[in-house]
Amino acid sequence: MRESLAPERAVGATAEREETDTLVIGAGPAGLAVCACLRKSGVPFIALERGERVGWAWKGHYERLHLHTARDHSALPHRKFPADFPQYVPRLCFLEYLDAYARDLDVQPRLGEEVVRARRAEAGWETRTKRGGVFLSRRLVVATGYNRVPVVPRWPGQEGFRGEVLHSARYTNGEPWRGRRVLVVGIGNTGGEIAIDLHEHGAEPTIAVRSPVCVVPRDFLGSSTQVTAILMNWLPLAVRDRIGRLVSWLAFGDLSSLGLGRPASGPAALLARGRIPLIDIGTIGLIRRGLVRVAPGVERFEPEGVVFTDGSKRPFDAVILATGYRPQLEDFLECPRAVLDEGGYPRGPEAGAEAPGLYFVGFRNAPGGTGHLRQIARDAPSLAAAIAQARAAEARR
Ligand SMILES: Cc1cc2nc3c(=O)[nH]c(=O)nc-3n(C[C@H](O)[C@H](O)[C@H](O)COP(=O)(O)OP(=O)(O)OC[C@H]3O[C@@H](n4cnc5c(N)ncnc54)[C@H](O)[C@@H]3O)c2cc1C
Repeated sequence: MRESLAPERAVGATAEREETDTLVIGAGPAGLAVCACLRKSGVPFIALERGERVGWAWKGHYERLHLHTARDHSALPHRKFPADFPQYVPRLCFLEYLDAYARDLDVQPRLGEEVVRARRAEAGWETRTKRGGVFLSRRLVVATGYNRVPVVPRWPGQEGFRGEVLHSARYTNGEPWRGRRVLVVGIGNTGGEIAIDLHEHGAEPTIAVRSPVCVVPRDFLGSSTQVTAILMNWLPLAVRDRIGRLVSWLAFGDLSSLGLGRPASGPAALLARGRIPLIDIGTIGLIRRGLVRVAPGVERFEPEGVVFTDGSKRPFDAVILATGYRPQLEDFLECPRAVLDEGGYPRGPEAGAEAPGLYFVGFRNAPGGTGHLRQIARDAPSLAAAIAQARAAEARR
């Protein structure tokens, strides 16, 4: 680093500022992948992770979770999954893989270090952690995930509800709800799988579905839908969309009799708008057999249950909000508003002239359902290469 990032005293603390070329925030799959590629390129970096281990988000996900993308298309750069892992890698195996990845590729994030503020400083970026650490870096890579903060809606009457309401981020398994009536709000991939898990644990699940649902099977004719999406990705969107709709119809038939409306667009068009279809791993079969019930959107709560938008009401013992997450970067990142879009997502992998030296990884939608982890594995090497190039250009000046 040519321009001095002179050590200063942190305000209100005695710690010296630590300097590095590149600071990476987050040690989930995206942060680890970028660090591994930086290591290979010889770029000095420090990685900070708020959790107590790498892949912290996956530590917290519900127990039943498996990757819904195929093993051979979900690995991070420079390291395949072990050959004896199943086609759809279970959560604990994925964590094992991330541990081995960090160890073997020599990425040693500082754990328990939550970044509370990152802002542009004269010669780069100044980053502060909750524990009082202060870091000065030429470049900042934000890899904190688009699933950082749970979205927790509230409805009228909720405060008087006698049952429990919790976000899916706090759901471990269905055991606490054995024999009880549980409403799952939202039929995304998380809501769909939690309904299965509740059923498998002897609960009585209902899913509240407020809008039409686009459903694709995880496997079709013996092949993973993700692999088919990768093979078809060169086709025009309209053609992929029509094929997706046909596959959905062949796999599930008409879902309207089950209370699931069909959206105007198919899976490819949905993905192009940044929305993910329900990748079915058995929810539709359970709904068809009446083992998971479907209800419309939630209108309000009553002490014993929920009133739906069609005026019907049902009693529930618990409500699980499978209502998604947001990145909420503004919690800690100070950067020009133009760097993020209206939803708070980075507009691109590099902030550019708006905020020099600021990079993002893990926020880009995988085109056409080809897989988020696969996209991370493609984006991390290019990002590390861009950083190495910027460093080389600075050294020549
Ligand atoms: C339930 C679920 C299942 C998924 N299944 C698949 C799948 O099968 N296939 C697929 O391709 N994709 C899947 N995804 C999408 C995506 O691949 C994963 O979310 C993946 O973990 C994204 O990696 P990431 O590193 O970008 O984010 P994360 O895994 O969320 O990692 C971000 C890290 O940043 C840390 N962090 C956040 N804020 C701070 C801070 N202020 N300071 C320090 N550290 C911080 C977090 O603790 C976390 O460790 C799934 C997502 C979810 C939610």
